[in-house]
Amino acid sequence: MITPNMHYADLKDSYLFYNIAQKTKAYLEENPDKRLLRLGIGDVSLPLCSAVIKELHSAVDDQATKEHFHGYMPECGAPFLREAIAGYYKKRGVTVSSDEVFVSSGASDELGDILDLFDKSSSCLVIEPAYPAYVDANIIAGRKIVHLASGKEDGFLPEPGENAKADILYICSPNNPTGAVFSRDQLQAWVNFANENGSVILFDAAYEAFIEDETLPHSIFELDGAKNCSIEICSLSKTAGFTGTRLGYTIISKALVRNGMCLNDMWVRNRTTKTNGVSYIIQKGGAAVFTDEGQRQIHENIQVYKNNAKVLMHALDKLGIWYCGGKNAPYIWLKCPKDMGSWEFFDFLLKEIQVVGTPGEGFGKCGEGYFRFSTFGSPEDTKESAERIVKLLG
Ligand code: PLP
Repeated sequence: MITPNMHYADLKDSYLFYNIAQKTKAYLEENPDKRLLRLGIGDVSLPLCSAVIKELHSAVDDQATKEHFHGYMPECGAPFLREAIAGYYKKRGVTVSSDEVFVSSGASDELGDILDLFDKSSSCLVIEPAYPAYVDANIIAGRKIVHLASGKEDGFLPEPGENAKADILYICSPNNPTGAVFSRDQLQAWVNFANENGSVILFDAAYEAFIEDETLPHSIFELDGAKNCSIEICSLSKTAGFTGTRLGYTIISKALVRNGMCLNDMWVRNRTTKTNGVSYIIQKGGAAVFTDEGQRQIHENIQVYKNNAKVLMHALDKLGIWYCGGKNAPYIWLKCPKDMGSWEFFDFLLKEIQVVGTPGEGFGKCGEGYFRFSTFGSPEDTKESAERIVKLLG
């Protein structure tokens, strides 16, 4: 009889979002007249910008004519989009060639798929609290996971050291869930550490577009030596509202070599074997994001979320509640007031003021006692939530 991948049995059930859904459902059944305000969502609420919509429509029309129709796309991405992304990096002073850019259908897919590049025996480091996909993808692959706890003392930005040694190092900056962002020096220390140990950093840059403090690095490739030890995985989901449209990209320098194997060549081989490329229509829409007009429009949308963050941060400042994030990231990570536990605070907010957030414990043990607010909701709901929070805790 066939043996399935028994590592699936090692996965913990994802209680977090299931529990949130169950608790809110039960509350609404008992209190049908109440209106919930959701600060828990990780999905965007604004539609795609008009520059993207225009290109999507035009690409659909292309598919209707013999002259402009596109069938299979190149597996690693359409040259026009790979070049547009390389151009986006160049504007920030980072040189990547278009064949170091791989177009993907989103960061989640890539975060799992990229593990094909590494031997099953390689270990991985996850800095916690963390986006849950890192741990789960590696449990499924049967890898040894080194958990590195971060906390209020280090601003949720831990330094590398003996207890952080692993072959694959996940770094997410700006971070989900904490909103913390590594400074240039802090990130340089991780790059040096990876190069000294022959490790590879998987740098999740899904929230880079939210950085407003220009001294902070958007890309790991802004650091010396990063091309020799890093893979950057990015997404247009939060940058440009592509959560439902699906588009992302991965950058692997040709200088990234381990055991005589070039990881860029390996990824070309992987993609040409395992995918037939991302749809022409979606790639055309994605290319519009990197035009001047597209950039202007997506930043207008990002500003709406940033204003939500300001409203929430103002409320927390007023209450004297400790938090990080919000300024350079779309998440605010706060210490639960009155020493409440994460789920205790969740229940309290739900019952007293019908505000739904995300308990920090769901992102790893060291998230206990913390709570995440997302800024992706509507400005009206965010403002009302902030008012209710101040009234309740003031
Ligand atoms: N990485 C992080 C840190 C995220 O928070 C998310 C989504 O919330 C993703 C990756 C996944 O992005 P995508 O929608 O491109 O799969």
